[in-house]
Amino acid sequence: MTGTTQDDYTDRYARRVRGMTTSEIRALFAVASRPEVVSLAGGSPYIAALPLDAVGEMMGRLASELGTTSLQYGIGQGTIELRERICEVMALSGIDASTGASPDDVVVTVGGQQALDLVARLFLDPGDVVLAEGPTYVGALGVFQAAQAQVRHMAMDADGLIPEALEAAIAEAGGRAKFLYTIPTFQNPAGVTLTDERRERILDICERHRLLVIEDDPYGTLSFEGEAPRPLRARRRDGILYLSTFSKTFAPGLRVGWILAPHAVREKLVMASEANILCPSAFAQGAVTQYLSTMPWRQQIKTYREVYRERRDALLDALADLMPAGTTWTRPGGGLFVWATLPEGLDSKAMMPRAIAARVAYVPGTGFYADGTGGGNMRLNFSFPPPSRIREGVRRLAGVMEQELAM
Ligand code: PMP
Repeated sequence: MTGTTQDDYTDRYARRVRGMTTSEIRALFAVASRPEVVSLAGGSPYIAALPLDAVGEMMGRLASELGTTSLQYGIGQGTIELRERICEVMALSGIDASTGASPDDVVVTVGGQQALDLVARLFLDPGDVVLAEGPTYVGALGVFQAAQAQVRHMAMDADGLIPEALEAAIAEAGGRAKFLYTIPTFQNPAGVTLTDERRERILDICERHRLLVIEDDPYGTLSFEGEAPRPLRARRRDGILYLSTFSKTFAPGLRVGWILAPHAVREKLVMASEANILCPSAFAQGAVTQYLSTMPWRQQIKTYREVYRERRDALLDALADLMPAGTTWTRPGGGLFVWATLPEGLDSKAMMPRAIAARVAYVPGTGFYADGTGGGNMRLNFSFPPPSRIREGVRRLAGVMEQELAM
């Protein structure tokens, strides 16, 4: 017998796994990371802006001086030291003790992604409906699809999710909607922010229908013009699970995020997380705790804001100067992404191989809709490439689009 087999294991998978397909973004990363390609496709923070030597020394001390705890197992909810620090971070956005936030109701997760997975484990049965912005975060779509839920998208405009669209989607779901999943601030991928006035209206609608709100807020502190509107959780204490992460304000490689949950929900979240991972990494938690207690983390957020503001401006200027007529795009006040709408007749997914050949990458809009629509859009990232590369990337992209239009 050799090791070869004809079995492709198809009939052995669980039903929920059979419909799983690889994300377009992951497939693209392989080509987009080649050095000759200008990648506007990723979502990577500009880690070189961190004081890496100082972070390295801190990590060394974490092992040599605190190794008996930082290299040991920990508790499922996460260390109390980190949960207290997380409450300080949330207080920056107005989520503080006066709104009922407490370290006791924080659950530390393996990035924002595990936070989403725990939410799905707790609340979604197969066939349940999730209401989400259209477009929405691709990683959330993967989690909801794995839970065999149906995602119903609702329209946004420059002011974020449209309240009337939420009302209509709730009515249409006829009681099967389990929660609203929303990224109100510097939305991924659309780059838009829900206005104060709409925040209140959307909260009122959810309250009236007893619809749970999952507020995903990785980008709220990365504002380029003043402070962003206060999170939904800073306005109401009930009916909201607030999710965030250190991936964009510190470092995604550490994989540390969190959930602030209603007290009644917190214990089930911890049980679900223990079944999933036993406990979050003690070392990664120690690193974030040390970072927040011994290093100028507020200053670092300012540095990220400045770097990204300059790059956002470079992208917006390049788009205005170079894009073919009929192209439109959003103007994000923070975060990492611009959402572009292509001239009539262009298809971002079909165009992708030609773009790669022209050494530029983006994410086709289709990745951000559960139903595969969005071919007329693309997501452009500005946090990673320096301004000159961004401009070169847009120049290449505009060239490809002009060719497509001439075909
Ligand atoms: N939610 C949103 C809206 C995101 O954009 C991301 C990261 N791209 C995540 C969650 C996941 O974050 P993490 O890297 O911390 O898992």
